[in-house]
Amino acid sequence: MAKTINQKHQIVYTCSECKMKYHDEATAKKCEAWCKKNKSCNLDIIKYAIKEK
Ligand SMILES: [Zn+2]
Repeated sequence: MAKTINQKHQIVYTCSECKMKYHDEATAKKCEAWCKKNKSCNLDIIKYAIKEK
């Protein structure tokens, strides 16, 4: 999981498996754990992902 700062100067946590971005570290950790274990994305987790564009 990578911690970065986005263009709006907000802290962003990126799942190293699926590259989804989250404002919440706990959610990003959950996503990464799920991705590693299941090799797929959990819709209940990625609904919290940051939508870019
Ligand atoms: Zn993920």
